[in-house]
Amino acid sequence: MAEETIFDKILAGEIPADKVYEDEHVLAFRDINPQAPTHVLVIPKRKVSHFTEFPERPAEEAGILFQRAAHVAKELGLEKNGYRIVVNHGPHGQQSVGYLHVHILGGRQLSWPPG
Ligand code: 5GP
Repeated sequence: MAEETIFDKILAGEIPADKVYEDEHVLAFRDINPQAPTHVLVIPKRKVSHFTEFPERPAEEAGILFQRAAHVAKELGLEKNGYRIVVNHGPHGQQSVGYLHVHILGGRQLSWPPG
């Protein structure tokens, strides 16, 4: 059993979050420490802890998550100027919450490569 995280608690409604989108598959909410004018996290309601689990999961789970991320980015008005989608995994990727989440970052010119 995966350890409970802050995102489990947000999903359960035990701690508040600034929600921007929700349906039967995903929840999207604003990052508490935004790294861009728009910084939203999209999580699957059916828990996945790490990106590395996707090869063992039904392909539609990853598909729906990224489809919804694109939908949310469009709803947030980011499509015209562009935005970045990020999934951090493990220590080198600096994943800090063990509940898979897609970052949507936009609203300013982002640099590349990342640090
Ligand atoms: P990671 O580093 O794991 O890819 O990203 C985790 C993200 O979750 C960070 O950007 C961090 O600011 C955000 N975060 C951590 N705790 C909370 C919280 O309680 N509420 C919200 N909305 N975001 C959080």
